[in-house]
Amino acid sequence: MDSFKRYHNGKQTAIMAPENLIQLIQSVYRQHFNQRGHFVLTQLQVEDVTNQERQDRIVSKEHERAHRGITEVEHQLRRSYFFPKMTNKIKAITHLCKVCNTHKYERKPYNIKLSPRPTTNRPFDRVHMDIFQIDKCNFLSLVDSFSKHLQLIPMATKNITDVKNALAQYFATYNTPSQIITDHETTFRSLQLKNYLDNLNIELSYVSCSESNGQVEKTHSTIIEIFNTNKSKFTDMSTIEKMLLSVSLYNNSVHSATKYTPNEIIFNGCNEHRQNTEDLFAKIKANLENARLAQLKRNESREDPPELKENDEVFIKPNIRKKLDPRAKPVRIQEVREKTFKTMKNIKRHKGKIKRNKC
Ligand SMILES: [Zn+2]
Repeated sequence: MDSFKRYHNGKQTAIMAPENLIQLIQSVYRQHFNQRGHFVLTQLQVEDVTNQERQDRIVSKEHERAHRGITEVEHQLRRSYFFPKMTNKIKAITHLCKVCNTHKYERKPYNIKLSPRPTTNRPFDRVHMDIFQIDKCNFLSLVDSFSKHLQLIPMATKNITDVKNALAQYFATYNTPSQIITDHETTFRSLQLKNYLDNLNIELSYVSCSESNGQVEKTHSTIIEIFNTNKSKFTDMSTIEKMLLSVSLYNNSVHSATKYTPNEIIFNGCNEHRQNTEDLFAKIKANLENARLAQLKRNESREDPPELKENDEVFIKPNIRKKLDPRAKPVRIQEVREKTFKTMKNIKRHKGKIKRNKC
């Protein structure tokens, strides 16, 4: 009776008592109180933790026991402890955990808005250039914006002499493009390259600070997929050979944006499906416009890139990952652009690769 008066707040109250006492408790309560109270019978008494530091220690210890998620840790702690804002405390501590940030995959990766460039009118109006690396092999990568044709040209090094040689091979095989777009990689910023292209009447442009070289990045993800899914067919071959065969598979597959294979567009006339070139280009232009509109439409459900500050530490997905490698690694930010950033090691990464900070 005294306990009821002292502790019962008229609402829910937990009582720790053996189960066989419930009858007695109920009848006593009904006899002496008018209010309708709600009682929870419990076999365990949780500790009311008032000291903040001790709260932190309890949460950290339980989190580190198995590095489980927020909900799991909360269920576990509620069995033994009570303190206000427990969930928030668990969230904060979980998000700071280095081990979890390194090894857990991102459940909801960033889906960042894209800014598609205007469509072009014919092959080699605009070619996107980049350096592609796989298994320590360097390639000069050239993607034609109209046909989506990809060429990877093996290079011994990334220096300007090798880049110029690779470009000469490309121009001799295909065409000199009107415009080449590239990123701010050191080699591509050299005056030598600018003069070389000037003499060939090719305009060299750099992606603006607000954009990444999206066309190339997308094609590179596709070619890596083709490489990985087909490499078992090409045993006893070097990486370079496997890569070039993958490029051939890519150029002979229908591209979703143009609805034609890159080779059909570039070599129209070399196959039985040849069409009047102007008709073909008009169809492709229309398809590209549709693809561009669809991309703009998808932007509506996409988000702006996360805001970063220089010197911040973020966790990013590694480029290549073997099964048991960490899922993410911490990097410190040196320079921030709209959709990309540079790490302290001078490596450019897309903001979409960052693990979300859920706080
Ligand atoms: Zn953890």
